[in-house]
Amino acid sequence: MAIKQYAVIGLGRFGTSIARRLNEAGQEVLGIDVNEERVEDVELYVTHAAVADSTDEKALTSLGVRNFDCVIVAIGNDMQASILTVMLLKDLGVKKVIAKALGKRHGKVLDRIGADWIIYPERDMGERVANQLLSPNMLNY
Ligand code: ATP
Repeated sequence: MAIKQYAVIGLGRFGTSIARRLNEAGQEVLGIDVNEERVEDVELYVTHAAVADSTDEKALTSLGVRNFDCVIVAIGNDMQASILTVMLLKDLGVKKVIAKALGKRHGKVLDRIGADWIIYPERDMGERVANQLLSPNMLNY
């Protein structure tokens, strides 16, 4: 598998698990968060880590994110920051932007501004669990 460059913005549980898994699979991963502690916690599990505010265009430019194959925006609660970040990334020309949405309205805006893949973690995980329970290969619980 070819090595790709990923940036994960927002290092909560969701962003960190994506960053760690990609790193384990040998991919190049830049982890970004505005919170220094979160960046320190993830340092051992990513290729590079940076403290930065992703709503700051200059910060995104100086980190070179426009050249990454894929950027994952794992910010949820601060909807304004999530939307602004996705908008800046698309304006900078990032080809693939994946974003987490907390709800339908958030997701709808992300779609309008060009997010390529919108993830609803709780909804998607719930569906996955139900599908596994319905799978004929699943042991009965
Ligand atoms: P999770 O549900 O994944 O555990 P969380 O509960 O910490 O996440 P979120 O609001 O989704 O809550 O935040 C995810 C991360 O995004 C946090 O670590 C937060 O510091 C980071 N973050 C929020 N705003 C920005 C920003 N403007 N730039 C960079 N990182 C940000």
